Amino acid sequence: SFRHSARTDAARTKDGGTAEFAAIHLTKDGEGRTRAELRTLTPDALPEGEVLVKVSHSTLNYKDALAITGSSPVVRSFPMVPGIDFVGTVERSADPRYQVGDAVLLNGWGVGEAHWGGLAGYASVRADWLIPLPHGMSPAHAMAIGTAGYTAMLCVMALQAHGVAPGAGPVLVTGANGGVGSIAIALLARAGHLVTASTGRREEEPHLRALGASAIMDRNLLSNAGKPLQKENWAAAVDCVGSHTLANVLAGTRYGGVVAACGLAQGMDLPATVAPFILRGVSLIGIDSVQAPRERRLQAWQRLARDLPADVLDSNTRTVSLPDALALAPELLAGKIRGRVVVQID
Ligand code: NDP
Repeated sequence: SFRHSARTDAARTKDGGTAEFAAIHLTKDGEGRTRAELRTLTPDALPEGEVLVKVSHSTLNYKDALAITGSSPVVRSFPMVPGIDFVGTVERSADPRYQVGDAVLLNGWGVGEAHWGGLAGYASVRADWLIPLPHGMSPAHAMAIGTAGYTAMLCVMALQAHGVAPGAGPVLVTGANGGVGSIAIALLARAGHLVTASTGRREEEPHLRALGASAIMDRNLLSNAGKPLQKENWAAAVDCVGSHTLANVLAGTRYGGVVAACGLAQGMDLPATVAPFILRGVSLIGIDSVQAPRERRLQAWQRLARDLPADVLDSNTRTVSLPDALALAPELLAGKIRGRVVVQID
C-alpha cells in the first residue's frame, strides 16, 4: 500500500527549505516521440512511496537506454524518470524495516518503467522493493554490478541449480561485452568453468580474457538461421541475445546441457526447433530479474558480494554524470559500450 507516504516530510531539508535535485525526465511529444532532458525537480514532484531514498548512484542498462531513446515502448506512463537500478541512503521511511541512514539497493520491479526510477537525486518507492546494500559492498561497487550483474548471477544460479558443475565442459556466453555478458563471464570463470565468449567486437578479446574467458568466438557464426542440431559444443550457455543466436546456441548444446536465456539484443523472436529438447534433452531456462522474488534477490546479491571483488569490475566499468548518461544511451543501444555504466548522482 502507498497510503503511508514518506514524501511530504521529505520535501523539507534540515533548514526547512525544499531540496531540489536533478533528474532525467522523459516526456512524450504530440507525435509520440520520447523527449529526454535533464530537469531540476523538487521532492513534491515525486510519486507516493513508503521510503524516500537519496540516490548516490544509478546505472545505464539496456532497458534504460531503450527508455531514454524511446526506441522501444518500455516506459508505461509519462512523465517518467528512468533508471531501473539505484543505491542510496534512506532519508525518510514509513516502514519499520528501514531507518533513516540505511544503505539500500533497488533493481527492477518496474521502477524506471512504470514508477519513477533511479536516474535522479531522490527516489520514492515501496519498502518491499528495496533490499539492504550487502555488507562490505560500496555503493559504486553495487552499481558496477547493477541489474546486469544481478541478472548474470541469476543465470549462473539457474545453471548450477540444473546441475552444471565445473569440469562439465565449455560454457558459452553471448553478448559478451555487454553488462550481463561481461559479468556472467567473470562469475562463471571464478566458479571454475571454462568460458567461451561470443562477441562482435574481436578487439575486446584482451578485456574478455582478463574477465576470465578462455576462448573467443565471432558472434556472426551464431547470427543467422542454422541447422536444428549442430556439433555438440556447449555444456551450458548464458544467452543475452535471443533470436537466431539463441536458436543456434540450443542447436549446439551438448546432450543434457542447460541454456539460461535472459536477453534479446538480437531480437525477441526464437526461430528454433524442438530438436535439441527432444533429441538431446537440452533445457532452456528463462531468467527474469524484474519480478524475481525477494529471497532469490537476497541470495544473488550475497553471492555477488562474496564472489565478485570490486577490482574484478574496475576495468569493466565507466562512471559518468547524469547528463553523460543521456548522451550515452544511443551508444549503448548501438553496442558501442563495453561492460557497465555507473551513473554517479551525488
Ligand atoms: P548491453 O547493451 O550492455 O549488451 C548487449 C550485448 O549484446 C552487446 O554489448 C553486444 O555484445 C551484443 N549484441 C548487441 N546487438 C547484437 C546483435 N544484433 N546480435 C548479437 N549480439 C548483439 O545490454 P545488457 O548486458 O544490459 O543486457 C543484455 C540483454 O539482456 C538485453 O537484451 C537486456 O534487455 C536483457 N536483460 C534482461 C534482463 C532480465 O531480467 N531478463 C535483465 C537485464 C538485461 P558484443 O559487442 O560483445 O557482441
